[in-house]
This record gives sequence, C-alpha cells and structure tokens, in this order.
Amino acid sequence: MAAPGKVAAFRLPPLPTIGEIIRLFRLKAQKQLSQNFLLDLRLTDKIVKQAGELKNAHVCEVGPGPGGITRSILSAGVEQLLLIEKDARFIPGLQMLSEAAPGKVHIVHGDILTYKMEKAFPKHLKKNWEDEPPNIHIIGNLPFSVSTPLIIKWLENVSKRDGPFIYGRTQMTLTFQKEVGERLTANPGGKQRSRLSIMAQHLCTVENCFVIPGQAFVPKPEVDVAVVHFTPLVQPKIQQPFELVEKVVQSVFQFRRKYCFRGIETLFPESGRLKRTEQLMMTANVDPTLRPFQLSMSQFRNLCNAYRKMCDEDPSLFVFNYREELRQKKITRSLPESPGQPEQT
Ligand code: SAM
Repeated sequence: MAAPGKVAAFRLPPLPTIGEIIRLFRLKAQKQLSQNFLLDLRLTDKIVKQAGELKNAHVCEVGPGPGGITRSILSAGVEQLLLIEKDARFIPGLQMLSEAAPGKVHIVHGDILTYKMEKAFPKHLKKNWEDEPPNIHIIGNLPFSVSTPLIIKWLENVSKRDGPFIYGRTQMTLTFQKEVGERLTANPGGKQRSRLSIMAQHLCTVENCFVIPGQAFVPKPEVDVAVVHFTPLVQPKIQQPFELVEKVVQSVFQFRRKYCFRGIETLFPESGRLKRTEQLMMTANVDPTLRPFQLSMSQFRNLCNAYRKMCDEDPSLFVFNYREELRQKKITRSLPESPGQPEQT
C-alpha cells in the first residue's frame, strides 16, 4: 500500500472524485439504511492498510457504496476485487471504477447476508487451516445493523470452516460502532466484556486497530467507528461446537451484574437445577460468585467442556430452553382448570 504522496502499486487513471461520483449519480445517503460515506482517501487508505499486504491478493469488499475504500483497495495492487453491494444506485459508479481497472473488478448486486462465499474465489487459493492464511481478504464498512449479525455469522463459519473460511483462515477488516469494537476486544474484568468478546476471541485474534471519529463520515453518524481486524486462530480456544459455546456464553451473560451461577442455572430444567449447577461449577472449577465479565477464557472453556460432558450423559439437556420453560409456566398459570383435573373446593 503506497503512503500518500508516494507512487501507488497500481495507479487508477484520472477519475471523478468520490464527491463528484456522489453528485453525478445523485447518491444521497439514505438515513434509514445507515449509509455514511467515507470521502477522505487518506482514511480509506488507512483502513485498507490494516488488512496487511494486499499486493496480488484476492479481496472481497462488502458494501462499497460510492467506492472510497474500493479505490484504496485497487491502489494497493490487488489481483482481483469482488464487490458486493445491496443498493442498486451505487452500481453505475462502481462500474466506472471497474472500467478504470480492467479485468480486476467483479461487481455483484446482492446482499452479503445471503451471498454464498464458498465459491467467491478461485480454488487454487485454498490453504490448509494450519498453514498461513490464504491471500484472500474481506474488507468492509457496513451499516452497524449489518456488521454485528454478519460477524456472528462469520464467526460460526470460522468455527465450521465453511463460508469464506473454506479457503483457510481468511482475514477480515471490518468497521463497527466504537462500543462494539471495544466489546469484541475486551479483556476479563473490562467494562465491555460480553458475549461478543468470548465468541470472537475464542475463534480469532481480534485487533481493535483505530477509531474513526463520526465527523469523518458524510453524513455524520451519532457514534464513532472502530476498525477491527480478525485472523482466525489455528486452534480455537474452546474446542466445542459453535452452538454449544454460544449457549453457555449466552446463558452466563444473561444476568451480567449478578454472580455467574445465576446465568449458568438457566442451562438446566427446574427439577435438579441447583444440584446440576453446583456439579457444573465444581467440575469446571469456577467460583460461582464471580461476575460474568470477570471470567477468563479458560474458565469459559472449562464450563463448556463440563457442560458438554453433562449433555453427553443426558442428551435432553442440550435442547432444554429456559425461556420456553418460563413461557410454559406462564401459560399453565393463566389457563383455566382443565376438564380432567379435580375441581378445587
Ligand atoms: N463503503 C462505503 C464507504 O465507506 O463510504 C459505504 C459505507 S455505507 C456505511 C454501507 C454500504 O453498505 C452502503 O453502500 C450500503 O448500501 C451497503 N450495504 C448495506 N447493507 C448491505 C448488505 N446486506 N449487503 C451488501 N451491501 C450492503
């Protein structure tokens, strides 16, 4: 990636500025779609730099919009760039960029939440999971309403080694609301330590690269923005299925401010709840009076392993749903006496 003022690895021919493209194609940002554009190419260069060396890389940019980050990616000398954009209004401006970099850009008018990434890149780029990451990168500045569900979906893909991770440990550089960036990287005891911290950090090295102040975007969002880089780990820190880890972590954080046993209890049906909670905490060697945000990764690993053991012994346990139990209890309480029951006198 060339620093501003230096010769870029790949030089785009003269093009209208991003501001001119926005005016030319009347690309008014739609507030309801949380569209906030980055027009400062020094900032888009800085985001793209976080992805690492992109010379000859295959990159997928999600939500390119008017194409600021797209220009920085192309300037980094990539081999191929796949653009996935949901809003049709941006396609003509992206085509203009594509014509300036012949043969390099492939534009998809589609939704990243449903796009099949398994076939997005050439097969020969595949690497073994244990090897260095493939020369494939995902980069995107998406609306926050999309980036959070998307990273959860991609973390599940990391765990199952499918989706974009069928190619190996594909790296991602994505933007989030600043507080979400803090949650993704929070350490034990940290104010932002949450479900997202455990789910991300047990599967990836997560780096909160830098914060972009809201005023750098047009229009200005209410919040600041964090640029976060993810590299999937060779060995997940918790070696259990994604669904199991998610269930344990979600239960623990259900009562964030209470002792952790309060959330862990919700893994078990009412009958035998206390006994089984004590058994789980003892096997996992976790102090029940710790708060959820104080638990370390190895304590979460022990809890997941101990819960897995209990589920193997009693397979009905994993499908137990605490909320459903509460719902059923509520219904039973509000039902009139059923005909088969003895009348109360
Ligand atoms: N990347 C551009 C930039 O930094 O200036 C635009 C950023 S804007 C916050 C988000 C972009 O993502 C918009 O262009 C929007 O249309 C697009 N987008 C929103 N949801 C999407 C989805 N589900 N799939 C693909 N693109 C999406």
